[in-house]
Amino acid sequence: MTMLARAAARWSTENLISWGLDRNGVAAISISTQRGGLVLLHKILQIAPDVAVLFLDTGYHFQETLDFRDELAAKWDLNLVNLEPRLSHLTLEMVPAKVYETDPDACCGSRKVDVLREALVDYSVWFTALRREQSLSRRDTAKVERYEQSETHTLYKVNPLVDWTFQDIMTYTHEHGIPEHPLYGEGYSSIGCAPCTVPTFGADDSRDGRWKGRKVECGLHVRVTAE
Ligand code: SF4
Repeated sequence: MTMLARAAARWSTENLISWGLDRNGVAAISISTQRGGLVLLHKILQIAPDVAVLFLDTGYHFQETLDFRDELAAKWDLNLVNLEPRLSHLTLEMVPAKVYETDPDACCGSRKVDVLREALVDYSVWFTALRREQSLSRRDTAKVERYEQSETHTLYKVNPLVDWTFQDIMTYTHEHGIPEHPLYGEGYSSIGCAPCTVPTFGADDSRDGRWKGRKVECGLHVRVTAE
């Protein structure tokens, strides 16, 4: 573990946000319009109202998600960067219909991972709302990680909410009047693309309703090394 990793492990959410925004370069936050992302975005906007807000528009979102994104962008005057896959991203998935059923890794790869990885070339810091308690796959998430965008560009991935609990998120959401995705009210606990998300009717934000249990991550969060 490096000196930065040891230091960052003790930093508060506010310390991490300040550190990320103070780096020489440009910061971005990715959101999927879920509660945790909006809590983090709300905190960052207090300091950096023009932070780039990246949204992966996969083409398969619920209409409720797109409407909520647009309402939020207007309400909070967001510097929204809507990222859509280009035809070149989709070439490999054009042959099988409903590739999200036959090969969800390929579908996420072309509609999320490749698109975001290309977009991140413009940034030196990427904020995420990952939390360790969300799933086993996120249990070891560090507060600051290095993300290899390409062979020539590496940026810092900063995760200020890693040790927040679901209750922490709910408390902040209610105390600050953060808007909530309408599908939470219909039994969804983690909301992704429509073909790959089902309601769980659980009380938390576990990812059990994603990909029908076939996988738990889209792949966005694997190209990292602890800093
Ligand atoms: S979540 Fe499903 S529809 Fe969305 S990109 Fe991944 S496999 Fe495709």
